[in-house]
Amino acid sequence: MLCYPDRRSALRAGAAVAAGALAAACTPAGPAAPAKAAPDKPAAPAKAAPAKAAPAPRRFAGQPVEIGHGPRGRPGVALTFHGNGDPAVAKAVLAEAERAGARVTVLAIGAWLDAHPEMARRILDGGHELGNHTQRHLAINTLPEEQAYAEITGCADRLKRLTGSIGTWFRPSQTQYATPLVRKLAQRAGYPHVLSYDVDSLDFTSPGAAAVVRTVIGPIQGGSVVSLHFGYADTVDAMPPLLEELARRKLRAVTTTELLTP
Ligand SMILES: [Zn+2]
Repeated sequence: MLCYPDRRSALRAGAAVAAGALAAACTPAGPAAPAKAAPDKPAAPAKAAPAKAAPAPRRFAGQPVEIGHGPRGRPGVALTFHGNGDPAVAKAVLAEAERAGARVTVLAIGAWLDAHPEMARRILDGGHELGNHTQRHLAINTLPEEQAYAEITGCADRLKRLTGSIGTWFRPSQTQYATPLVRKLAQRAGYPHVLSYDVDSLDFTSPGAAAVVRTVIGPIQGGSVVSLHFGYADTVDAMPPLLEELARRKLRAVTTTELLTP
C-alpha cells in the first residue's frame, strides 16, 4: 500500500494516479479491496492527515497541576517559547537550538498557527515539543469563563487538526500563573497540567542578547523552566551564547516532557 508522508507529496503523486488510488493511500494494510467495492461516486479529496499524531498531554505523578519547574539536582532545563511572530525568526531560533543539540518547547498561539500552519510540523520535525498558548493571547485570567475556555479550545482544535494532538502542554497567555478557574478550564480541555516557569528571560523587552543571556544564566538551575519568545532578534542572537553557557555548567536543554520524566 502506498503511503504518502504528507499532503503535498500525496497531491504530487495524485497527479499520476487515479483518484480512487489516491483516496486509498494510508488506509490500514490488509487484503486489497475487490474492484466492485470501489466507490461509484468520485472519491473525496485526500484529507491532510498528519503523518503521525504528535504526543498527547500526560499527567505527571507527583507534579502539581501548575508546573513551575522540574526536579532539582538533575542536569535538564526546559527552554520554552511563546510561539508567535515572524516565522523566519522562529526558524532561526529552532536552527540555533538544533545546531547545539538542544530540544525546546514551543507554546504556539492559535492565530499564529492559522497564519503559518507549516510551523507546527517544523517544530515537531526538529524533535521539539509543541503546546497551546491560547488562540489570541488575551489576558486569559481576566476573561469570563466561556471566553477563557474558547481561547484554550480554539488553539487546541488547531493543534489537533495540524498534528493529530491538542499539544503536550498548555500555557496561559499574559500571565506567569493561571487562576484556579483557568487551571480548571485547561484540565477540562484535556491538559492535566498548566505549564508555568521559574526563569523569565525578559527577551520580549529587547534588552540585547547579552542581557538575555545574563538574565537567564543568573537564576537558572537544574530543573528550571525558562520563558522565552519567538519574534525577537535578541533571542536568536542569545541562543548560541546561552547554549554554550548551559553546556559549561553541565546543563542540557531538553523538552519539558523529558525534564519531568524520571
Ligand atoms: Zn505569551
